[in-house]
Amino acid sequence: MREAIRAELEQEYAQRRAENERIEESRKREIAERYPEIHVLIREREQLVFGTLRHILNHQAREENLPEKMRSLSEEIRRKLKENGLPENYLEPVFRCPLCRDTGYTGEPVREMCTCMKEAWQRKMQAQNGLDVNDRETFERFDLSLFSDQRAPGEKRSQRELMQRAREICEGWADAWPDTTRDMLLSGPSGLGKTFLMRSMARRLSERGKDVLLVSAYQMFQTARACYAANQTEPEELIRPAILMIDDLGSEPLMQNVTVEQLFLIINRRQELGRSTVISTNLSAEEFRGRYTERIASRMMDSARSRVIILKGKDLRQVRGNG
Ligand SMILES: [Zn+2]
Repeated sequence: MREAIRAELEQEYAQRRAENERIEESRKREIAERYPEIHVLIREREQLVFGTLRHILNHQAREENLPEKMRSLSEEIRRKLKENGLPENYLEPVFRCPLCRDTGYTGEPVREMCTCMKEAWQRKMQAQNGLDVNDRETFERFDLSLFSDQRAPGEKRSQRELMQRAREICEGWADAWPDTTRDMLLSGPSGLGKTFLMRSMARRLSERGKDVLLVSAYQMFQTARACYAANQTEPEELIRPAILMIDDLGSEPLMQNVTVEQLFLIINRRQELGRSTVISTNLSAEEFRGRYTERIASRMMDSARSRVIILKGKDLRQVRGNG
């Protein structure tokens, strides 16, 4: 996933540089055709540079005040451009990002990704996970006031306090990853904001530049089936991301044996490779065990490697909307 995005970005930047060159060339042609007096000055500046190079190569005396001459020619060119109603920098190199000049990288000797490329990277990661830039699902927008401040039945704390705690755990996990439990299971009835919390985690992780893939359970099984149908030994796309988030597990149609077997292979392989899997489900612990068998349940509910959050309370959508 990561490598695919990098390759895509490299290609986009190469296209942008080619486009910049085309613009530079067409401007030069335009000047040559329509503004001969400016063209003469440009030729003169070129001659000056090439002439000096020739002198150096031939070990001859070089033009003494070259920088001064270059500067005054350049100034004259800029002045004439302005006179003709063109921008002064019309003939200077074209680029969108002054930091990296559209190479995508800055820094010497250590090459670092430029902020413009980092931002483009993030946009791609968000888009891949179906997270729009203007998306409302962030930790900051998780509205605790939607939850009752009355004590939940059989609980010491109110639903609002319980949800606040759940938000803290999710946000803490997303901020601390990879120094966290490997896996996470978010369980509880629908309409309590599990999807909201999961999308907030995916957003935070991708903002941190982490390799995260968020899929619905339905999409995940579709992908897995397509991979096996194409005779791949394992669904590469679902194994590769450092963090795989599966939303709403339990909502997919259950094809006995196949569904459970595929899920086991994915979770097991990811655990072998030390990668993280986060699952949200409407199923209770007992229902989860019943549907996906003990060997999957024990993997996702093992407190040594998985953080289990159980949400309780009323479906918020019956009160006021929240995802
Ligand atoms: Zn840049």
